[in-house]
Amino acid sequence: MISHTSLQWQSSDWQSILQTAIRDSAELLQAVGIPRGSLDAITGETAGFAVLAPRPFVARMEYGNPKDPLLIQVLALKEEIAPNAVGTTDPLEEQRFTPVPGIIHKYFGRVLLMTAGTCAVNCRYCFRRHNDYAQNILTPARLTEALTYLRSQTDITEVILSGGDPLLTSDRKLSELVAELEAIPHIQRLRIHTRLPIVIPQRITTELCQRLGQSRFQVTMVVHCNHPKELDVEVGLAMAQLKAQGITLLNQTVLLKNINNCAATLEALSTELFKIGVLPYYLHTLDPVQGAAHFAQPIGDSKQLHQILQARLPGYLVPKLVSEIPGGASKTLIY
Ligand SMILES: *Cc1c(COP(=O)(O)O)cnc(C)c1O
Ligand code: SF4
Repeated sequence: MISHTSLQWQSSDWQSILQTAIRDSAELLQAVGIPRGSLDAITGETAGFAVLAPRPFVARMEYGNPKDPLLIQVLALKEEIAPNAVGTTDPLEEQRFTPVPGIIHKYFGRVLLMTAGTCAVNCRYCFRRHNDYAQNILTPARLTEALTYLRSQTDITEVILSGGDPLLTSDRKLSELVAELEAIPHIQRLRIHTRLPIVIPQRITTELCQRLGQSRFQVTMVVHCNHPKELDVEVGLAMAQLKAQGITLLNQTVLLKNINNCAATLEALSTELFKIGVLPYYLHTLDPVQGAAHFAQPIGDSKQLHQILQARLPGYLVPKLVSEIPGGASKTLIY
């Protein structure tokens, strides 16, 4: 029985579900039945990065468990603003690789197109917390400039919709954007990096699936799931719809202390994802972002974890352990 959260969202469209998301630590704690005093949560001002947790995601949290791995990903804790908080505010040096607003061109042959400035969930460990991605919103003028750049760079074979979360864009706008990209002959592949199918699976509409299925591109969707408890029947249905359209489904995970830094958890994540048609892609070490140091674990422990996964799982269910090292020509494999 789920008594702690409104179930009204189950029959709603994704935009309404997003509107009713929880946007305050106190409300979140109340929704999962945790007394306010038992966790060092920040209420009110959260260092510029608000609490945002959609209800379908909150409903998968364990009632009364202050250590719930889903809760800890979205609840603002005082550790974020500890005086000794280490890390930088642009750990990936993305500013350097922005030839025109809205494009990050860092690796050969593929570019990020920042399609939306915000997300449907605010993950406390995210590097996005310090970036003013609102400046990346694709206004018509910026889109024109971005498309001109893409046309001029004939090496580019893959466009990756990123953000923020690109699936916050409406189906109509996404369809128009895909059409613009399809008109550029050297682009062969379209990739969408998104956490929306996990946190609000209702976002995977029939219109979206059909549009992507009809595209001349090979389409890949990389969902972003960190823990097997993030998967439920609704997520499975969303994946099935995408798969029916021939879309390749991959997952990337961030390795997070006290959330998923455990071999059994990561093993279950891979096998549960595979049941719904998703293959593991990357297991990212945490970027050294200010305010997220309490999620970091020593690199040696991460390597050891990865070795256990490799020993226990078939090769295709082992994600690549990677770090993003500024200046690299790709993500860096960690052995
Ligand atoms: C991760 C990333 C990509 C995609 O890299 P793949 O290894 O192809 O997944 C592209 N551009 C940037 C800036 C990235 O950070
Ligand atoms: S969905 Fe991804 S980009 Fe958005 S806050 Fe979470 S980790 Fe960051």
